[in-house]
Amino acid sequence: MIKIFPDRIKSISTKIALAFFLASAFPMVIGLGVLMWGANHIQPEQSASYFRYTILGIETGILVLGGITAWMVAQHLGKPLKALVESANAIAEGDHFRKIKITNNDEIGQLQQAVDLMRSSLKEQIDRLDNAVVQRTVQLTQLNEQLIHDANNDKLTGLANRELFCNELKKELGQYHKDNKHLISVLFFDFDRFKLVNDSLGHAVGDALLCSIADRFRNCLRKTDMAARFGGDEFMILLSPVESTEHAMEAAQRLLKLFEKHHLLDGRQITSTASIGLVTADSRYTTADQMIRDADTAMYQAKLEGKGRVVRFDQQMLEDTKFRLRIQEDLNSVLKKNQLRVAYQPIVNLATMKTTGFEALIRWEHPDLGWIRPDQFIEIAEDTGKIVEIGEWILEQAVNDILELNKIFAEHGHLFSINVNVAKRQLMCPDFMNNLRRLLEKTKIDPAVLKIEITESTIVDPRSGMSDIINEIRLLGVKIAMDDFGTGHSSLSLLHKFKFDVLKIDQSFIRDMDQNRDIGAVLHATIELAQNTGMAIVAEGVETESQVSALIAHGCDMVQGYYFAKPMFYDDVVEFLNTPQEYRSAA
Ligand code: C2E
Ligand code: CA
Ligand code: CA
Repeated sequence: MIKIFPDRIKSISTKIALAFFLASAFPMVIGLGVLMWGANHIQPEQSASYFRYTILGIETGILVLGGITAWMVAQHLGKPLKALVESANAIAEGDHFRKIKITNNDEIGQLQQAVDLMRSSLKEQIDRLDNAVVQRTVQLTQLNEQLIHDANNDKLTGLANRELFCNELKKELGQYHKDNKHLISVLFFDFDRFKLVNDSLGHAVGDALLCSIADRFRNCLRKTDMAARFGGDEFMILLSPVESTEHAMEAAQRLLKLFEKHHLLDGRQITSTASIGLVTADSRYTTADQMIRDADTAMYQAKLEGKGRVVRFDQQMLEDTKFRLRIQEDLNSVLKKNQLRVAYQPIVNLATMKTTGFEALIRWEHPDLGWIRPDQFIEIAEDTGKIVEIGEWILEQAVNDILELNKIFAEHGHLFSINVNVAKRQLMCPDFMNNLRRLLEKTKIDPAVLKIEITESTIVDPRSGMSDIINEIRLLGVKIAMDDFGTGHSSLSLLHKFKFDVLKIDQSFIRDMDQNRDIGAVLHATIELAQNTGMAIVAEGVETESQVSALIAHGCDMVQGYYFAKPMFYDDVVEFLNTPQEYRSAA
């Protein structure tokens, strides 16, 4: 732009005034000069029109120059204003980077400066805002990631949780169905002694143990595998891919081996085995839940089989589990519906070949499932605690039946004893002794007629405090028989520690006696030792004549088994006792 005014002039009004002054001064000065020249050279008779034309000329000059000046002033002021409007529009549209050029030093220049200041402060604010948004977005992203992590991971161990595991398994199973070369296996992992650790060492140690278990998984699994905590001490592992079930079995065995090493927690060394259930995908599995359910079933089987092992799922297990659940449910109403019966198996004295007593054995007549054996429901009843109620009923029923029987056969001079099996859970129940006392008082039975059978495994359990209970029972005059001797890990020293009246040798001993000479020797020593400490010996599961002969030779007192009689209901017992038995002359 051509510079018209000197920099000193900073006011638009001065500039306009100056422009017009100059624009009018120029024709005025020329006009005056022309007039003065005319005054000296023009004839008087021509001077009037000369002056008139000169003044006209001056006026025209002023008019023309005034117009030109007005146009130039308008240009001078209008251009920067237009540029300013454009800049303001650009700012409004978001262009904060274009700096506004200061073209004038007057009020327009000040306006340009002010607008530019506004632009730069706006830019600053927007930059600050942008930064804040970026920071907030980072925070939100992190928070979101944390939320997703929390929703998918177990808080304590940081492993995947059930939801994430199920989703992953669902995906992998879908993949398997598309391409069955992509084989996967699921392991259900349960630490065998977790409850004990939690109960005895406290929850903090329990939690530390769970974290330590999780760490072991993290260190030993492949990147493509996944470990998850399902709650408590239950963990799930997805092995993906696996070549075959055998391959998965090997991996599971390696995992078990890994847990042989102790965990160092709170200065203590904690070691425990784990039980693992394994299932491999096949066409039957359409949902993740089905695979998890079956892995759980297999894990449960691993526990049943003695813990510390891997068990592979098979269909029979599912049937067994369903059966167990049905039994567990139906046990609740078994007494109310009067479905239990007591069967009695004679115990025969080898010296006289006469029945001296009976063992009461429970039977369940199920309306849909038929007769259910005790080994199919006693353990379940123990687990649920139902055994306490059931056991009480059996005890009362057996005592009443034997009283009735003894009444019938009293004239023959017989007094039959009755052996009743009592489960650990029942013995540990605080009411057991009171109920027993009440029963003895109510029925007036001679306490010596009643024999409580306690299994060897119950007695050897160091936590059961059995010796006090046994002493209390014996103080009432009731006798104690140690059942299933030889099945647990007891030693003969146990016979000194506890005072029993009867020792029942387990049928597995009797079964193998014929084939294994060593068993005969052990049996002989046991019988001798037991008799020396005042116990009577009953051999269980006697099925053959040769077993009877061998037992007589070893000095056994009494026998029980199919060779003599199978368990029978009360009415058959009366008939049995009234019928002469062939075996009575066998020995
Ligand atoms: P147990 O106490 O060892 O009872 C002996 C089992 O051996 C009975 O099985 C009996 O029928 C069976 N048995 C008897 N003689 C022979 C034989 O010569 N050969 C063979 N192979 N077996 C013979 P059962 O009645 O099925 O009872 C199984 C187990 O269930 C019992 O073993 C006992 O531990 C438990 N049980 C039975 N009734 C009761 C009960 O009323 N309460 C409790 N707590 N447990 C019971
Ligand atoms: Ca028994
Ligand atoms: Ca037994």
